[in-house]
Amino acid sequence: MPTEASRELLRSLPQVEEVLRAPRVEALLADLPRPFVVETVRNAVDALRRRILDGELCDVSEARVAEDAAVRALALTRPSLRRVVNASGVIVHTNLGRSPLAPTAVKAALDVAGGYSTLEYDTDRMARGSRHAHCERLICALTGAEAAIAVNNNAAAVMMVLSEFAGGHEAVVSRGELVEIGGSFRIPDIMALSRAAMVEVGTTNKTHEADYERALGPNTAMLLKVHPSNYRLIGFTESVGVRELRALADAENARRKAAGAPAGAPDVLVYEDQGSGALMRLDAFGAYAEPAVAESLRAGCDLISFSGDKLLGGPQAGIVVGAKRHIDRLKANPLARALRLDKMTLAALEATLRLYLEPERALAEIPTLRMLAEPAEDVRVRAEKLRDTVAAALPAGCAKLDVVEEVARAGGGALPMCDIPTFCVRVAFSRGDALGCERHLVSERAVPVVGRLKKDALLLDARTVLGEDEMDEIAAGLAEYFAEVGA
Ligand SMILES: *Cc1c(COP(=O)(O)O)cnc(C)c1O
Repeated sequence: MPTEASRELLRSLPQVEEVLRAPRVEALLADLPRPFVVETVRNAVDALRRRILDGELCDVSEARVAEDAAVRALALTRPSLRRVVNASGVIVHTNLGRSPLAPTAVKAALDVAGGYSTLEYDTDRMARGSRHAHCERLICALTGAEAAIAVNNNAAAVMMVLSEFAGGHEAVVSRGELVEIGGSFRIPDIMALSRAAMVEVGTTNKTHEADYERALGPNTAMLLKVHPSNYRLIGFTESVGVRELRALADAENARRKAAGAPAGAPDVLVYEDQGSGALMRLDAFGAYAEPAVAESLRAGCDLISFSGDKLLGGPQAGIVVGAKRHIDRLKANPLARALRLDKMTLAALEATLRLYLEPERALAEIPTLRMLAEPAEDVRVRAEKLRDTVAAALPAGCAKLDVVEEVARAGGGALPMCDIPTFCVRVAFSRGDALGCERHLVSERAVPVVGRLKKDALLLDARTVLGEDEMDEIAAGLAEYFAEVGA
């Protein structure tokens, strides 16, 4: 039962028509369609009515309802997918879109987005072409592979390879490599989906050559190696390398031939899901450097797949490299059609790969590589600049700003053991608090700023902040927060 006070509030709730005449709402009508504004005002009034009926004694002034409606309207007009300032220090941040693209890749995507393109048109032959042709030669040149295909992402690539070459057969994999990779990619699930029978060998920490050897049988189609990505076994461990797997596969294939296997009977293939897929050895990371695709090919893999937007630093994609006869089968698989890349992604991927033809250029222009390789001293200089930019925007006495040494991460399941030295601006709060500030920066800003909390402070990592415009955005967000919490 509404109390007398609530009944009074319900009676004084403003009419929709009145709110529409409020200055705050009239201003909205200049930019937004009237039916949309009317709907938001009605929703704002309804929401207030429900709160009053729930016993809350709310402010029902016309100005208050108008403000509510304006906030709702602006929230609905704000794009859902939008740019973010990444001050978290995680370079390949899967939640934040993994790799930012190089300027030439952005331009390439933009060029084909707004018009028609040579997507499936061969201008030399003046005939229908293949979308697979645009990146293939570059990938081959950069990895030494004979052929290549790029699809939607590496999960799709793994799925396609397993279903084409191991569907209805057995694929042998070490128990130490049955990993789950962020966002519900699990090797056993992908196996099941591709109808490959998984034969697990070894133990979690140790798998020997003899384990694979025992598992090889007449129905074996593949020896699968999976890069552990975000996970490392430390201590009493052993795994079998590509070279050894190659030798095992060769011996088995020779045995089958000697035993009179029919001509054209499928061979046992060695396939490595490399995850990050480095096209360049990042020597700065020493022992932790991820294996490069070219090295695994030389060591004897028949097929390798890897992501386009992890260490490669391009758009979301999954790339498979290997012998032409294998890649041709993948191109003919209906999954290649279902999982194909669109023109914007292909354009961005081609432009990114082109940068690798000059390794110096790749390091300078591909943001992911640049952020990974930037010397800590240079990051310190940028952190100092960020501190000064923020300090200039804040009223005196609201926070203490220091540049502190910290640890950044490669992210994206790459280089998990690697502590990348970095420098952050540490914001210690005299007014407000880190949690409230983080919420403001993430939830209230048109361009959210993502930092990280440590104890009672907010850390803003300069390694992943892309230039001075982003520094200005961070400063504006902090200034807005401190204006809101007041003196
Ligand atoms: C990241 C990863 C995948 C999934 O790649 P996506 O491009 O995210 O689909 C698969 N396998 C390994 C080993 C990985 O690290």
